[in-house]
Amino acid sequence: MRYKTREEIPLEYKWDLEAIFENIEKWEYDFKFVDDSIPKFADYKLTFKNSGEDLHKTLKLDEYLSNKLGKLYLYAFLSKDLDLNNSTFQNLEGRMKLLVSKYQNATAFITPNILEIGEKTLYKYMADIEELRIYKHFFENILRMKEHTLSADKEELLALSGPALQTSYNTFSLLKATEIDYGKTTNEKGEDEEISEAIFYGAMYSNDRDYRERVYRQFYKPYMNLKNTFASLFTGKMNADVFNAKAKNYSSSLEAALKPNNIPLEVYHNLVDSANAGLSSMHRWVALKKKILKYDDIHPYDMYVSLFPDSKKDYSFEDARAIVTNTLTLMGSHYIEAIKECFDNRRIDVYETKGKRSGAYSSGVTVGVDPYVLMNWNGTLNDVSTLIHELGHNMHSYFTGQVQPTVYASYPIFTAEVASITNENLLHEYLYYNSTSKLEKMNLIETYINKIVSTFFRQTQFAEFELLTHEITEKGNALNAEMLTNHYTDIFKKYYGPEMTDDKEEFHTWARVPHFYYNFYVYQYATGLAASEVLSKNIMEKGLPAAGKMMSFLSSGNSKYPIDTLKDAGVDMTSKATIDAVITKMNTLMDELENLI
Ligand SMILES: [Zn+2]
Repeated sequence: MRYKTREEIPLEYKWDLEAIFENIEKWEYDFKFVDDSIPKFADYKLTFKNSGEDLHKTLKLDEYLSNKLGKLYLYAFLSKDLDLNNSTFQNLEGRMKLLVSKYQNATAFITPNILEIGEKTLYKYMADIEELRIYKHFFENILRMKEHTLSADKEELLALSGPALQTSYNTFSLLKATEIDYGKTTNEKGEDEEISEAIFYGAMYSNDRDYRERVYRQFYKPYMNLKNTFASLFTGKMNADVFNAKAKNYSSSLEAALKPNNIPLEVYHNLVDSANAGLSSMHRWVALKKKILKYDDIHPYDMYVSLFPDSKKDYSFEDARAIVTNTLTLMGSHYIEAIKECFDNRRIDVYETKGKRSGAYSSGVTVGVDPYVLMNWNGTLNDVSTLIHELGHNMHSYFTGQVQPTVYASYPIFTAEVASITNENLLHEYLYYNSTSKLEKMNLIETYINKIVSTFFRQTQFAEFELLTHEITEKGNALNAEMLTNHYTDIFKKYYGPEMTDDKEEFHTWARVPHFYYNFYVYQYATGLAASEVLSKNIMEKGLPAAGKMMSFLSSGNSKYPIDTLKDAGVDMTSKATIDAVITKMNTLMDELENLI
């Protein structure tokens, strides 16, 4: 279904934003209220530490206003995303950003002051005042970071260094977004084509192999030509991470990245070690792909192309709703009821229209408002999968928002992808067992394997490289383009195995990946996938008892540390068995595929 204008689309497929604010006037009223209330914090700051009552009063005001702020923000950014060219909503969003930063400055005193109150007094306050007791985990989490919180003047000095330490990433982004010239090539039809990042990613899925190769070789040229520049930016980022870690008394930059969420370092090492132990599965996949494609040699630019291009099936949004609902019946009646509300209460904006933001997302937790999903429906299998993925996020936000008090009503990146990928896995199983076509089955298996390759193996490969380059920098050794290329080459070859052809372009991938500037971020994609693998398997095998545990995970928000909420759900992220589950699944899928072929 395609619509020319938003007006043509039936109401049921469009967001009900009036559930957040009836109209802009109401929004303006709350905006003014929050803006006028911010100065109150200046008074509260003076009395904050005096007593348990004062502490409680400040926390309550912060919660009350940040909930309002959350609603204001949600309304502004959802409205803007429906029509990116609408200047009214651009303006609302712009004003929101200023208000949020004003708010953050006004409340920045809270955390350091809680530290200053200290453990003993906080426990005394909690003993005296019942309403403060729910903050126990919140306080403990702040106290836990005491040795990494510096004196006020040092923190200020460190904050001043922030913009300078951002230069590497800013320059990298600018270069990539505006100044790199990828040049031209000819497309599949023989016409001139200007290369861009989007063209590159699109071309990697093309069935025209020569075209894939042309784009690939051309795309990498600037990264190879400018390798010294990129190496300098890369090492600048490494130096910044190492500086920050040392300044804040961490023993390593890995610890500095993981400790704020209380993730044990062994989770990271475990991931890398266990993935390494399972690399023969990656090698097997490369060889299998080469065999099915009937190539004499296989290159990195062959890794994305679909093996079964004829299996394309079309799904209407109504089909998808039925599939999603049937799949998720496994999760129990509470979950299904919430999914139904999400569809019926117009929490999904389905169709693409001019000016609407592309892609898909779920809006996250906003206290007092049920979350929203943005889609751009095209009727592909990928869209069905995206829908159930985003609904996974939505349910995580929904139950957390329903159950948790404001102070815990959010969740960290480390657990964010678990609910969504678990849903994708359940969907795969549902479609696979309800499919009568061999081609469709093979396509489903390939999709699943691709997900494991790109989300698990490739991200762990990046995580390994990231760890190595940080460690080299920590030992006081300098990195240059040649060293980065050599280290990247070693790790790439180890992951892709002997069948993969050496393309010097690929060995310069370190120069182009923005995630290397995100400070130990990507491993969470891999751990998220591993956790989902265990959880979806539990739900399929054990049914409602496992789904019940999953429901408590979905409702737990930040009330515990992420490792502990996942343990409650039934998965131990410190155990090698969790990572091994992914490799076992990958092998099972390849066995099935070989059988079908
Ligand atoms: Zn997601």
